Amino acid sequence: MRSALNFDELKASGNLPSPAGVALALFQLTLKPDASLAEIGHIVQADPVLSGKLIKYANHLKAGSRVIASIPDALNLLGMAATRQIALGFSVLNNNRQGACKAFDYMRFWSRSLACAIVAQLICEKTRVAQPEECFIGALLSGVGSLALATLYPAAYSEILSGGSSGPARLELERSRFATDHLELTVALLQDWMLPPLFASVALHQEDPDAMPFPRSSREYKLGRIWHFSGALAEDFLSGEARISSRMPDLLREAKELGFDQEEFGALCDRASASWQEWGRILDVPSQPLPSFEEMMAAIPQDAPRTGESAPGLQILLIAKEPGLSELSGFLASLGHAVLTASTEEEAMRIALEADPQLVLCEFSVPGLAGPAFIEALRKLPFGKLVYAVLLAGEDDLESQVEAFEAGADDCIALSRGQRFLAAHLLAARRFVEMREELSKDREELRNVASDLAVANRRAQEASRTDPLSGLPNRRYAMERMAWEWNRSGELACMMLDIDRFKPINDVYGHDIGDKVIRHFAHVLRKASRAQDVICRFGGEEFLAILPDANRKAAEQCAERLRSAVESAPFVDGKVRIPVTASIGVAIRNSGMGGFDALIKAADVALYNAKQAGRNLVRIAK
Ligand code: GH3
Ligand code: MG
Ligand code: MG
Repeated sequence: MRSALNFDELKASGNLPSPAGVALALFQLTLKPDASLAEIGHIVQADPVLSGKLIKYANHLKAGSRVIASIPDALNLLGMAATRQIALGFSVLNNNRQGACKAFDYMRFWSRSLACAIVAQLICEKTRVAQPEECFIGALLSGVGSLALATLYPAAYSEILSGGSSGPARLELERSRFATDHLELTVALLQDWMLPPLFASVALHQEDPDAMPFPRSSREYKLGRIWHFSGALAEDFLSGEARISSRMPDLLREAKELGFDQEEFGALCDRASASWQEWGRILDVPSQPLPSFEEMMAAIPQDAPRTGESAPGLQILLIAKEPGLSELSGFLASLGHAVLTASTEEEAMRIALEADPQLVLCEFSVPGLAGPAFIEALRKLPFGKLVYAVLLAGEDDLESQVEAFEAGADDCIALSRGQRFLAAHLLAARRFVEMREELSKDREELRNVASDLAVANRRAQEASRTDPLSGLPNRRYAMERMAWEWNRSGELACMMLDIDRFKPINDVYGHDIGDKVIRHFAHVLRKASRAQDVICRFGGEEFLAILPDANRKAAEQCAERLRSAVESAPFVDGKVRIPVTASIGVAIRNSGMGGFDALIKAADVALYNAKQAGRNLVRIAK
C-alpha cells in the first residue's frame, strides 16, 4: 500500500525543490485573480535572464512567424497560466543544477527532462491531448520527485541509486526508506505548484502506463502514453544514435499508436533534436547533436524488421495458389505495391488481422478456400468491413461476378483479361482507399478541434476557480480539491469557518466595510495556516479549510490556532476598529463516511454546534 505522505513536514524542512526569487513572486502574483499582465510584466523584467527565456520561449512557440521582441508581447502570447508555469519550471531547474546527492546526476536529469518536455510538447501540438506549452512544463517537471528525494535525503538516496535498482523495486526501496517514493512526491509537488490536476493524475502512472486505471479514451490515458513515450525517447536521445537506430522499429510502432506515421515521426524527431540543442544552450543544460532521422533510418541493422515503413503503393494481402501466386505477387510488386501472401484461409486471416492491409486480393477458388466465403467472413470483422476486397475470377463470366458482389467484394477482376486490366482496376482501388483514408484523417482533425475546445473550456474553468474578493480559491476549487484529496489514500480533515455576527457589521458600517472585513479575515486565515492547508472561500463569510494528511490532533490544533489568530487580529481601517471572531467546525475523515460531501457536512454540523455553544469556539464533529 502507498504510504500516507506527510508532504507538510517535508515542505517545512525547506529542502524541497521550489521556485525562488522572481519566479516565486510571479508564481504568487499570477494566483491573484486581479493580477494584470502589466504587473506580471514588471516583475518579469526585474529578472533579465528570465525575461530573455520567456521571449525565447514565445518565439519558439511561434516558430517562424512574427518575431516576439518584448516582454509584453511574449506575455500576451503566453498568457498568465503559461507564464507562471514557465517561470516555475525554469526556476526549479536553475535552483537545482547541482546538489549533495552523489549518485544523482543532476545535469543528466535536466537534460533528460528537457528532451522529454520538448517531445511531449511536439506530440501535443498535433494530438492536442493537453495544451502544448503546459505539457512542456508538466513533462519538464515529471521527474521532479526523484530530484526531491535527492535534495531531501542526499546520502540515503545516493545509496539507493548506487544499488542500481529500477522500476517497482526502486519504488519499494524508496518507500521502505523514506515512507514515500519519487512518484508520490512528483504528484505532491505538481499539485502544490498548482499545475493542471490532469498532470498529477498522470504523473503517478508514468512509469507503468499499462497499469493506468483510466479508460482508453480518456485524456489521462492518452497523456500517460505520451509522457511514457516522451520519457523513453528522451532516454534514447541521451544514449545517442546507435541506440535510437536499434530501437527504431519499436519507436515507429509506438509513434504510430500515438497517431504519427513514419514521415510525421521523422519530422518530430528532427524538430525535437534541434529544439533540445537550442534549449540546452538557452538553459545551459547538456544535450548532444543527433544525426537526422533519415540518417538514423539508414543505419537500422538490416535484420531488424522495419515496422511502420510503407511502400509508395498499397499494402496488399494476396491470397492465391502456386504457380499463379508468385507471378501475381511479382507483378503487383512491380507496380510499387507491398505484397503479403497467403495460400490458406487460416494464414490469410492471421495476416489480415496482424498487418491490417489496405487491399485484399483473393483468388476465386484456392484449394481449401472459397474466395466469396472468405470475403463474407472478413466482412464480419471490424477491420474487414473497411478493407477494399477484390476477388480474382479466372474467367469473365456473369455468375462469378454476381457471386462476388453478393459476398461483399468491392470488385471482381477476370484474370483472363490480362495484367493491364488488373493494373487499371487497381488504380480505381487505390483512389478509393486514399479517399477513405483522407476522410478518416478529416474526422481525426475534427476530433482534435473538439479537444482544443475542451482545452479552452478548461482554461476558462481554471480562471473561474478563484474568488475575486478574497483572492482565495473558491467553492468550485474547494469541491474539486476535496474530491482529489478524498481519492488519495491517507488522512484528511476539513473545517468550516464562519465569521460571528457578521450581519451587524454590514448593517452598522455598510457593505463596503463588510467586504473589507471578509478580505481581512481571509488574509488572517491564510497567514495563520500551514503551507499545505488549503483555505477556500466557500460562500458569503463562510470558509472551508482542507487539511491533507491531518489527523484529529493536528486538525484540532490547527483550528484552535486559526480561531485565536482571528480573535487577536481585529479589523482596523482608519478610525474604524472592529473586533472579529469566528466559529469553527472540524471534521476528520473516518471509514463510515460515504464521500467527501459527508466530511464537509460533518464540519458544517460541528460549526452549527460551535455557534450554538456561544461562538468564537472550535467544535469537533463526533
Ligand atoms: P452568525 O454568527 O450566526 O454566523 O451570524 P451572522 O450575522 O454572521 O449570520 P450569517 O452567517 O447568516 O450572515 C452572513 C451575512 O453575510 C449575510 C450576508 O448579508 C452577508 N454577506 C454574505 N456575503 C457577503 C459579501 O460578499 N459581502 C458582504 N459585505 N456581506 C456578505
Ligand atoms: Mg456568520
Ligand atoms: Mg454564514
